[in-house]
Amino acid sequence: MFENARLKLTAWYLLIIMLICFLFSLVIFRVADRELERIDRRQQALRERFGVEIFRPQFPEGFNVPIDVDDLRGRIILTLIFINSAILIIAGMSGYFLAGQTLTPIKVMVEEQNRFISDASHELRTPITSLKSAMEVHLRDKKLTLPQAKKLIVQNLNDVNRIQSLSDALLKLAQYQKPNSHTVFEKVSLAEIIKTAMLTISPLAKRKQISLKSKISDYHLTGSREGLIDLMVIILDNAVKYTHPKKSITVSSAKTDGNIFIKVEDNGIGIDKKDLPHVFDRFYQATDARSKSTTGGYGLGLSIAKRIVTIHHGSITVLSQKGKGSVFTVHLPLKHSKIENS
Ligand code: ADP
Repeated sequence: MFENARLKLTAWYLLIIMLICFLFSLVIFRVADRELERIDRRQQALRERFGVEIFRPQFPEGFNVPIDVDDLRGRIILTLIFINSAILIIAGMSGYFLAGQTLTPIKVMVEEQNRFISDASHELRTPITSLKSAMEVHLRDKKLTLPQAKKLIVQNLNDVNRIQSLSDALLKLAQYQKPNSHTVFEKVSLAEIIKTAMLTISPLAKRKQISLKSKISDYHLTGSREGLIDLMVIILDNAVKYTHPKKSITVSSAKTDGNIFIKVEDNGIGIDKKDLPHVFDRFYQATDARSKSTTGGYGLGLSIAKRIVTIHHGSITVLSQKGKGSVFTVHLPLKHSKIENS
């Protein structure tokens, strides 16, 4: 598909270049031809004045070698054909190279989209298959009692919830892929954002008896309120999910030379060295997290978080030690905290 598109694009480049070359050659030839005609007329006049026999030896100074106008015209045409052919070959080769360069980012994007669709379909298929088979089995059961049917509905609801949370996460991922008209930029208070995120997470933290500590100084920045809340909710939600009950999580902030740093520290299960470079990849889950179905994650949270900081021209990093805990640090530059709609 891409080879075809590359060849087509090369053909278009060639067509444009050849059209320009042809027009230039035509202009050059017309100018040269007019000049040759003028020389021809002048030679004709001299020949008539001095006679053909004296043409060669006694021709006036500057005209002692007569110009063969037809021969010169032929040579100009040949030279133009040669130059045009050389341009055609060079343009063909560089056009093919340029077409490749032009199409590479599109190719990467399409491959990325395909991978995304296949990953998303794969993740969606699991709960849908379990939903379908459970319903089929119970439907065939002629002795199905009301309590059994209710139990089935509860199970089905769990699967439906999983599908819903996956589709929500996929939508968020698409939403923060690129800021659009729904991404509103405004002056926001960091303390208020963190407070809102902590409130969202507190029921889950309470259930695990985890205390959320805040060491926040308030800073104001221009950013997407919704996006920054989502970012903090994702990091805090993970911290609570991957921390053992009765432990604590600390959120702190600092400002240095126009940069805001937000730190979320937990003393939870930590992340294995081999998993650390991949935790921000889409659908990546560390082995521990994958085996724990209770976490209910899909490996999308941190990739959404990364996109949110990227549209704010910031960065997100993690330091972690297996069994000891993790520290997620978000860096948001104040200068570029405004989204560029590009
Ligand atoms: P998930 O939905 O699985 O939590 P994320 O993208 O949010 O997906 O996180 C990716 C992986 O990073 C998780 O599966 C988990 O293994 C690891 N991780 C993220 N945050 C933490 C944390 N605070 N402590 C330990 N592991 C974490």
